[in-house]
Amino acid sequence: MNQHKSLLSQAQNQSARLQGLWQLATSRSKSDEEKAKLMLTLARDTLEVDTALIGEVDGGHFVIRYLVDGLGLFRANGICPLEMLCSAATRSGESTFFYQMQESEQFCNVEAVHASGVQVYAGVPIWVGDELFGTLVFLRRHPMAEHEFSKDDKVFMELLASWFGLMLLRTRQTQALQTQALTDALTGLPNRRAAELRFAEEIARARRDNSGFAVAIADLDRFKLINDNFGHDVGDEVLRQSSQIMREALREGDWIARWGGEEFILFLHHSSGDDAFAAVERVRLAVKAASYVTRSGNIKVSSSFGIGEFHLGDADMSRTLSEADGCLYEAKRRGRDCVVASEGREGTTLWRAGVLQRALQEQRVLAAYQVMVDLRTGKPVADEALARLKLSDGSMIPAGEFIEAAEGVNLIHEVDRVIAYQSMSRCTAALEDGFDPNFAHFVNLSPQFLARKELVEQMLDFAVAMCPCNVEFKENKPIVFEITERQLLSDFESMRKDVQPLLDFGFRLALDDFGSGYSSFLYLAELPVSFLKIEGWMVRNMRSNIRVRHMVESMVSLSRRLGIITIAEHVEDSGTAEMLREMGVDWGQGYFFGKPEL
Ligand code: GH3
Ligand code: MG
Ligand code: MG
Repeated sequence: MNQHKSLLSQAQNQSARLQGLWQLATSRSKSDEEKAKLMLTLARDTLEVDTALIGEVDGGHFVIRYLVDGLGLFRANGICPLEMLCSAATRSGESTFFYQMQESEQFCNVEAVHASGVQVYAGVPIWVGDELFGTLVFLRRHPMAEHEFSKDDKVFMELLASWFGLMLLRTRQTQALQTQALTDALTGLPNRRAAELRFAEEIARARRDNSGFAVAIADLDRFKLINDNFGHDVGDEVLRQSSQIMREALREGDWIARWGGEEFILFLHHSSGDDAFAAVERVRLAVKAASYVTRSGNIKVSSSFGIGEFHLGDADMSRTLSEADGCLYEAKRRGRDCVVASEGREGTTLWRAGVLQRALQEQRVLAAYQVMVDLRTGKPVADEALARLKLSDGSMIPAGEFIEAAEGVNLIHEVDRVIAYQSMSRCTAALEDGFDPNFAHFVNLSPQFLARKELVEQMLDFAVAMCPCNVEFKENKPIVFEITERQLLSDFESMRKDVQPLLDFGFRLALDDFGSGYSSFLYLAELPVSFLKIEGWMVRNMRSNIRVRHMVESMVSLSRRLGIITIAEHVEDSGTAEMLREMGVDWGQGYFFGKPEL
């Protein structure tokens, strides 16, 4: 009878702890880490031992992965022979038990075992398939009441070991996937994603240390030629070797990642100005000095570098990367095989020109559209396409910040072209969707664009191709080109000639920024404009300055006489809109009616 009772309670115990195990294993709210700790604790308590641990095989040795230690055997200065504890079980490959550990062959000479007084040992190897992942170890100081572990205890231990096996496998797989996802397959370097993650850490560290850092973007020179002449395989080999050379040439603590294609990014810690320049210059020289051994013989390459500095005031990497990008462009422009840093010229035309050139190549110059409204009816009557530059990180730079750079490096006509084509395509789509054909689309054109006959002709060809044949236009086509007096052109005769083909086609002209310079009236006298846009400053100051108001009034009356539609820019509130309407201004544009939208 007694025996029966004890069997019953054993079964109940077993069932209770298996249930506990099952509940933990299937819990959704706990992480693997938490589960592992709780399971070891459950095992320690129900097996009535003092210490439970998982030793994981790592690089040919055991390391403690999880530990619930009631004996304090593994404190910082503990001398417990982990290796022996784990391998005692793995040697045979099966569960191993000692009940008088100090007298066992394995442990009788181990000082630490004697010192700790541990008597009972259980070691269960953790197998996943036929790979040994580790050992589950239990230790107990006092001899066991029942002398040895019961069959149920052993079954429980085996179950636990197999759960831990699966967990360790899952952890390893996740880690392997993570490493793979962050590593560039060709060079073995961290990839762009990994670099971006590391930048977040570097920024945090820079803030902590109160010191900035620099990055450099490296781009191999004329790399296309290597691919074209020797084949892609050889190109790959050169990429692999040159990235290795760059990595080795870096200072301790700096790192390199593959940024894309044949571009790499170098991280330069605690560097600014001359330091960064010198570090990158060393990398440049190393790349140039090396000979790359390939199946097509030894190949030499050079590379160009653009440096960007991270300042503690920067919110993220975007400004730094743009700076580096711009400097890289400049390095290429200067003839390649050199390092360019911005030297505090941020905001000057130099780097912005580089950023712009790239953005044009990569189709990241985009039109945003701002509505114009008829001040009398309040209805939208037109929109203006405004250039935006999208940085590689997705942020937008407004036209005002790069147009000057574009003019400085003769790219303004390119910006005009890109924006004009986008606006025309949008206009076509709107017409095809049945929108009002009288809704006008304003596009800015620079004198530089107009002066290039081939660009004007191409644009007209494009317009012909885009023009939907089923739409009837009254007198004019819906595109209006805005020309500005910003560049102070005095050669009206040639300007007139330049715009004539556009007028002949049925497009109209608007005079932009009217009132901002002294040539305005000359333009008005010389060019057949249909619209006049009253400059924003005047509109904003009209209510507080009676003289400005009189000037606007006279512009309106002059325009009326010439049959020109007036448009007020920068209308920001209803009071101004109302006043403009009363003064007879025809249309309004500004935040009050709508911001530019992509
Ligand atoms: P430069 O930078 O000096 O202006 O000239 P480039 O010839 O290097 O110019 P570009 O940046 O336009 O061309 C880069 C070339 O690199 C084009 C591309 O096919 C090649 N490339 C990009 N990624 C790889 C790669 O993984 N392997 C190989 N073999 N070639 C690549
Ligand atoms: Mg290149
Ligand atoms: Mg490139």
